[in-house]
Amino acid sequence: MAKQTTDIIERSLEHLLEEVAFLPQLQGADRTKAFHSLGAILSTPNHIHKSFLRIVRENGEVFRIPAFRMQHNDTLGPYKGGIRFHESVNEEEVINLAALMTLKNALHEVPFGGGKGGVAINPREYTVREMYMICKKYVQYFSDVLGPDKDIPAPDVGTGQREMDWMMSEYKSINPGKPYLGSFTGKSVMNGGSQGRREATGKGAYYTLRYLLHDYLNEHQERLVDTTCTYAQTALAKWKQPLSVAVQGFGNVGSVAALEAYRCSYLNNKVVAVSDRNVTLLNQEGLDISSLVLFSSSNNGELPRTSDELMEAGIQAEIRDREEILYLGVDVLVLAALEDQIREDNVEQVKARILVEGANAPITGEADQILAQQGVIVIPDILANAGGVIVSYFEWLQGRETLFYTEEEVYTMLFDKMKSTMNSIFHSYLGTGKPLRKICYSHAVMKLSTNLYIQGKLF
Ligand code: NAD
Repeated sequence: MAKQTTDIIERSLEHLLEEVAFLPQLQGADRTKAFHSLGAILSTPNHIHKSFLRIVRENGEVFRIPAFRMQHNDTLGPYKGGIRFHESVNEEEVINLAALMTLKNALHEVPFGGGKGGVAINPREYTVREMYMICKKYVQYFSDVLGPDKDIPAPDVGTGQREMDWMMSEYKSINPGKPYLGSFTGKSVMNGGSQGRREATGKGAYYTLRYLLHDYLNEHQERLVDTTCTYAQTALAKWKQPLSVAVQGFGNVGSVAALEAYRCSYLNNKVVAVSDRNVTLLNQEGLDISSLVLFSSSNNGELPRTSDELMEAGIQAEIRDREEILYLGVDVLVLAALEDQIREDNVEQVKARILVEGANAPITGEADQILAQQGVIVIPDILANAGGVIVSYFEWLQGRETLFYTEEEVYTMLFDKMKSTMNSIFHSYLGTGKPLRKICYSHAVMKLSTNLYIQGKLF
């Protein structure tokens, strides 16, 4: 079993037996037994599907590419989770990401289980025709286990609307006469996708920060001065002052989160640094994020990396190494690239006091404990980056009803859903001072245990 999955699940089950709200209908040995069955269920995925996609390249060479679909848990509904195209994809990573999806959907009460897919390629090394073939083959190889009521993939690192459009089309060809609009989410709007899906994760990630520091604290100032909340008090002391923000990763999630921070009129933010796989760009006076988004959208998703390119984009910035973004003296660091960016070996160099996990698992368990001891606020992945799966749920609903919402309706529903989760999480946070991740995990497993018990699976 993937080690990190065991870690994630172990951490999510920590102290659960001490919670009065955990299966109050059971007492003594029955309750302990139910707790152990819960651990056994969640620390193993329901299904591991793996294969090698046979691809003929344009030059006639034949390749076999490792590909995965992991179905972690379906207690709350069909499996749901993105498909990642990245050279480092491996079985363990995909299982971990699927387990996080189970917790994320449970936390936000989205009626889906947890799944994830991956293909071990660097998409930049393949032509458009080859990418099309890889997407078709992925659906052909895994078609038996995919479908609107079984398992619904979405985009992740290295995939986007184009890949989801191709995949849904292949699913439709393989399953003539069957409903297909809900088989993949994150499609283009013209092809049955939802307004706002592409932006949803980045917008949602920034919204968690804005909601905590602006809306929630404005409404609940009295909770900050409560002496039981010293942990939160120290970390949130600057909540009314201007904030400097750095964003690691400038793809689907990072570029949108950076743009939201740049445009936000509620908080007096300055986005002083952004980074991607090549560089960090830094300007202490604030970067022009609109121009950077324009540049990257016409340059294969990449940031300017030479002074000539900066000039072409009309941007004033210093070019630094890509890792430097992690160690800048900023107030907020949004992590929106890949996992394991902050680890035991580099955590002491991190100066930001608020970290937002736009990416999945960008902070390792060991580093997370150190940050918690230092009183750093970490808005965890399952809370912060759920915007994508929430709007995917709306897309799936729209596909079933063939009735489509406006962009405004989508964002209103998205923020309402996130707000309702955040209200209960932030309430416990200010009340107990426990790290946000612990509280989110505990809410998620409580929901899963209740449903598993009702379904007769915990005994
Ligand atoms: P993406 O491929 O669009 O963007 C990834 C970005 O990270 C790119 O700018 C890339 O250059 C950069 N990057 C790669 N390696 C880097 C490194 N070592 N240092 C700095 N930057 C690096 O991917 P995305 O869809 O934005 O996903 C980013 C993260 O968010 C992933 O962890 C993904 O699982 C998570 N996520 C995405 C969604 C979604 O809807 N796209 C939803 C939930 C979670």
